[in-house]
Order: sequence, then C-alpha cells, then structure tokens
Amino acid sequence: MIWTTLGFFAITAFSVYFHVRRTEGASAARRAAPAFARACARCGRQVAAGAQLCGHCGVPQQIFEVVRSKEVSGEPLESTEPMRAHVRNDQCVGCSTCVDACPEIGAITLRGKLAVVDPVLCIGHGECATACPVGAIAMLAGAAANRVQVPQVSTSFETNVSGLYIVGELGGRGLIKNAINEGKVAIEHIALARAADPPPAAEHEHVVDVAIVGSGPAGLSAGLEALRSGLSYVMLEQGSLADTVRKYPRHKILFAEPLNIPLYGDLWISDSSKESLLDMWEKVVATTGLQVRTNHRVEQVTRSGWLFRIHAGGHEYLARRVVLAMGRRGSPRRLDVPGEDLEKVVYDIVEMEDFAGRHVLVIGGGDSAVESALGLANQTGTTVTLSYRGEQFARIKDRNRQKLDRAVAEGRVSLMLRSTVQEIRRDVVVLDVEGTGTILPNDDVVIRIGGDPPAAMLERLGVRLVHKEIPLEPDVATAG
Ligand SMILES: Cc1cc2nc3c(=O)[nH]c(=O)nc-3n(C[C@H](O)[C@H](O)[C@H](O)COP(=O)(O)OP(=O)(O)OC[C@H]3O[C@@H](n4cnc5c(N)ncnc54)[C@H](O)[C@@H]3O)c2cc1C
Repeated sequence: MIWTTLGFFAITAFSVYFHVRRTEGASAARRAAPAFARACARCGRQVAAGAQLCGHCGVPQQIFEVVRSKEVSGEPLESTEPMRAHVRNDQCVGCSTCVDACPEIGAITLRGKLAVVDPVLCIGHGECATACPVGAIAMLAGAAANRVQVPQVSTSFETNVSGLYIVGELGGRGLIKNAINEGKVAIEHIALARAADPPPAAEHEHVVDVAIVGSGPAGLSAGLEALRSGLSYVMLEQGSLADTVRKYPRHKILFAEPLNIPLYGDLWISDSSKESLLDMWEKVVATTGLQVRTNHRVEQVTRSGWLFRIHAGGHEYLARRVVLAMGRRGSPRRLDVPGEDLEKVVYDIVEMEDFAGRHVLVIGGGDSAVESALGLANQTGTTVTLSYRGEQFARIKDRNRQKLDRAVAEGRVSLMLRSTVQEIRRDVVVLDVEGTGTILPNDDVVIRIGGDPPAAMLERLGVRLVHKEIPLEPDVATAG
C-alpha cells in the first residue's frame, strides 16, 4: 500500500514538474519571438502586433482598414438604444469644429488630436455631424460601427474594372497621410503591371501609361511615384494644385504627421499651417518637374478594351491605366454663362472676412446658398444679393428660412426670386428678373448650385460599390 501511495506521488510530482517546464518554455519562446497580429495586406509577410508599418515592405497597415473591413448588406443596424454621435478615428482631423458646434458642453471633447464622445452627455443633436468638415461623425443608434458605401478595391487599390484604381478619400478613407500612402502603393502596382505589358504598337505610342485624376495629396503622391518609376503620365486637376487643402480655412493647423513623399523623402508637417504645407508641395512640384494640368476638369472616363479615354478641358487623353484621386467633394455645378471664368467667380467660400465691404451676388436655392448669403451679410459693409430662379425656397432648413426672412426684413440681404444670371462682367452682373433686364454693381459672384458627385462617374465606369462596416473609436467612457 505504502509503495502504491509513494508511486502515485512520484508520478504526480513528475507530471507537475514537466508541465511547469513546458509552460515556462512556451512563455519564454513567446517572449523571445514577436507576436504577429496578421499578414501585411500587400506583401503577405507577418506584421508584429501593434506595429503600424509592415517591417518587410514598409507600408502603413492603416491604409488597408477599409479594404479589410467586413462587407455588409447595407441595411441599417438595428438598435433600441438612442441615437448619438460616433467618431471615425481614421477620418477625424482633430479640428475641434464639432466641439464648438455641440450645444451640450462636454458631450464631445478633444483628446489629443481625436474627438471623443461621452455617451452619457451626448443626446444626439447631430450638430457635430453636420459641422464636421471631413464627415468623420456618424449619428448611430448605439452600435459602435459605421456603415459606409465605398468602391470595392484590392489591396493595390485596383477596382473591379481592370486598370482602374481609386485612391484617397474617394475610396472612403480620410487624412492626408493615408491619401499619400495609397497613391504611392497604387502606382507601384501599376509600374509592376506595366513592366509585364507587351511593347506598345507604333500607333499607340501617344498612349500614356497612367492618367491621374486630381492633384490632392493622393494624386500628387501618385504623380511623383509615376515620375520616379519612369512611367509616362498625365495629371489632370479641375482647379489648382491641391484644391481641397487650398480651401481649408486660412492658417488652418494640420494634424501632425510625418510623411514620406515619393521623390522627396520625409516631410514633417507637424502642426504646420495649410499655407506652409501648400508652399512645400509647390516646392516639391517645382523641384521634381512634376507636370500638373490645372483647370482641366475630367468630365468623362470611358474604357474600350485595354484603353481608357479621358475627356478633360476640351481634350481627349488616352491611357493604359487610370488612377482616380478625386476626393469626395465632387465638381461644383457651373452656370455656363459668359464671364463665368473671371477670377471673381467662386464656388466655395474659404473666408467670409475676405468679402467685407464688397458687392457680392450669391446664386442658388439650397441651404449652402442661403448660409453663404447669411454669413456674408454679417461682414462689415458687404452688400449681399441672393438670386434664385425659383419662386420660393422649397428645400431649405426651417432655421435657415427664419434667419433669411429676418435678414431680408432688416435689409441685410436683397432677395431676387425668379431671377437668372445672364452675364458676369468685371464690375457688374446682368440678371433677368421676371423678364426684366437688371444690372447690379458687383465685385464677387458666389455660385452655390450644387455639384456633380464623383459617384456618378464611378457608376458610368461600372465600378462595384459595396457597404462596409467600419469600427468606430471607443467613447470617452471606454477610451484609455
Ligand atoms: C476643412 C478641412 C480640414 C482638414 N484637415 C485635415 C488635417 O488637418 N489633416 C488631415 O490629414 N486631413 C485633413 N482633412 C482631410 C484631407 O484634406 C483629405 O482627407 C485629403 O485631402 C484627401 O486627399 P485626396 O487626394 O484623396 O482628395 P482631395 O484632397 O480632395 O483632392 C482631390 C483633388 O481632385 C480634384 N478633382 C475632383 N474632381 C475632379 C475632376 N472631375 N477632374 C479633375 N480634378 C478633380 C479636386 O479639385 C482636388 O484637387 C481636412 C479636410 C477639410 C475639408
């Protein structure tokens, strides 16, 4: 009996000893080797847990967040919880516009460069979501995920239309750094594909390797990478270089990010103003010799076989591949009247103060036209006329209607319903008001008649759009 008991204890002691040794060995091995979270979406090598860049190909993994997000049906998420604001951390630029717009003090605050919502204080006004300049806030009923509709792209940002790539904000991701990285990755893929193409036939020598639409951070980076890779390219921009960034409010401080610009190297834009970033980009363009055709709005892109035809600024360009880096703001709709190309005509207001003491004509019948007219009417010495071809403002918010009625009654805005602009001249505008020709003194024309969203172009090209579920930033209650 005693021998049986001793034997039992000996076997148990040995088992415990070997189990402890094995467990310790495994923990030591885990400590020695880095933990791998997932494979790099681009090169397939393992990326260490928590690492932002792939240690092998150097690509920031954040740019694949949307590509890798779960595809969903697009049906709204069911929830019985009340509506409240949710912030997308890959879109938020920490500008604090939402904090200023929120009527509930403390419901949304800035944590470093990120807006965070207090789920207890937020009661779902939605003012923050309306005010956010980058569309980073969604009003959702409880669920901590946002559903967005985005073009379906591969990890090289190629769409289902072979040879057509979508990068930057048009692909559903915000921020300058993401746009720059995506533009570079797409062109690197194109350069590899181009190397495998058969040599061009003599009649196709004028066909460029790639056409890049848009010269924002995504297009700029794509263009520089094309130049670096020796690809022939054409870069088309509807406005001026980096038009979206140019239209940020004056002296807007940028979200601090180190950036690697193709052909230029590291560029630290930590807390710099938009003016210094634009200066830097202009310097990069001048130093590298990148050719950007500004004032070339791309109206149409069609594909026949392997060839893309791009219509812009009255010209047709032919390209083997196309990178759409057009952002999401679309193209402002034009009046198409004589004089519309004069410099005094704008489609966006960057700074209301620039219009102080001037005669301004605002055109349009929606909220953006009314809000522009009201904002301008607050400037010292500005004469504001609001022209709309309709009989009444049928689709504006009640709040705007009340403010407009007050401004008209007080003589701060002169309203011209049933009026159309006939011609814009240097010092005057010619209008038809209910069949009568009217000439007004004029310094500036602000056209706010909507825009053509880039989605229409994608649809015509046959780009597949999908719904994705993007996880949102934890709330202030749960954020560390
Ligand atoms: C007010 C504001 C503040 C912001 N602050 C920050 C910040 O601090 N930090 C940050 O990282 N991000 C910020 N962002 C977001 C950032 O600007 C965008 O994420 C980024 O510019 C997206 O780059 P993109 O190249 O994809 O598109 P865009 O910069 O929008 O560039 C698209 C370009 O394509 C052109 N284009 C469009 N349609 C056509 C067409 N049909 N033909 C030819 N050209 C066309 C446009 O004119 C434009 O120049 C801010 C945005 C706004 C509005």
